[in-house]
Amino acid sequence: MNKKRVAFIAFGAIIAVCFICFVCFVIPKSGLNKEYSETAFYMDTTVTVKIIGENCEETAKAMFNTVDVLEKFCLSRTVEGSDIFNINLNGNAEVSDQTLEAITLSLDVCKRSNGALDIGIGSLVDLWSVTSGRSTPPSADEVAALSGNKYDLISVDGSIVTIDKSGLLDLGAVGKGYACDRIHEVAEMAGLKKAVVSVGGSILFYGDDDFTVGIASPERGSTDYIATISIPACCVSTSGTYERFFDYDGVCYHHILNPVTGYPVQNGLTSVTVISENGLISDALSTACFVLGIEKGKELCKEYGCQAVFVTDDKLVYTTDSIRDSVNLIDSEYRFA
Ligand code: AMP
Ligand code: MG
Repeated sequence: MNKKRVAFIAFGAIIAVCFICFVCFVIPKSGLNKEYSETAFYMDTTVTVKIIGENCEETAKAMFNTVDVLEKFCLSRTVEGSDIFNINLNGNAEVSDQTLEAITLSLDVCKRSNGALDIGIGSLVDLWSVTSGRSTPPSADEVAALSGNKYDLISVDGSIVTIDKSGLLDLGAVGKGYACDRIHEVAEMAGLKKAVVSVGGSILFYGDDDFTVGIASPERGSTDYIATISIPACCVSTSGTYERFFDYDGVCYHHILNPVTGYPVQNGLTSVTVISENGLISDALSTACFVLGIEKGKELCKEYGCQAVFVTDDKLVYTTDSIRDSVNLIDSEYRFA
């Protein structure tokens, strides 16, 4: 081979290596790993997607579509033909794998929380209708007629779910967290670098870095945070009195109900935030712990290996033991208990 030919091949090889390096290392870091955010309305709440990765717009669409399908075909009580609608209409129905998973996991929390979470109290939820604009409390007789635990009226046999006619399924306390679990799958399939997706009060934090999570101020109308928590990827759900409520005669009637008394919980708590690897569990426990109160709530969190932050109306902040050091109070009116 003459010298000229060797030089030509070497030059060609260098150009090829440079091109491969450019395609493999430079383009993904600059051009393709974009940041993207979009907000839409599903499950009667705001869904916000913030992601970093390739094909972000398509991935965000897939995430919204996942929530839409979950709502329409599985979890909605009001959309005709959904699994939950069919169970409530006929007393039983064969359901999809996703509905089955959501119901099975929820029933486990209903049992372990001794009915503080109760996915069978749809009629009581309807009576209070805090979500659809009720402005006066129902009568004591109306409440008494629907109070009491109902989750033991629900049974699962294979993919058939049955409920006795004195109960009504309502997955309002767990559905948004479960949506985070399904969105997590989409993030994985799309190979995203990072994602923060909120479905109402439940948020998925996805990616390798640590995240800073804000605990919302319970003051009405406030968009401030009272504290931040530094944590690795997880799901975080908050149940708060300030989310849905009405005032009557100086009393705040909010949307988290004590199934036994039939009334909105009045135990001095204004919010409970639960951190878990599983979205449904974080959502189910935030509601259950709100009903149980601080001590029993902490015990339930321990059973599920979850962390929690409890905020009271006298501005005290309680946490499960191992998360205390990661919580940073930023509102000077609040202090650790
Ligand atoms: P969350 O915001 O996750 O605490 O869920 C509250 C929603 O769950 C309410 O709007 C009701 O639809 C429903 N709910 C209220 N209290 C309970 C309860 N104790 N168990 C199960 N669902 C409940
Ligand atoms: Mg919940």
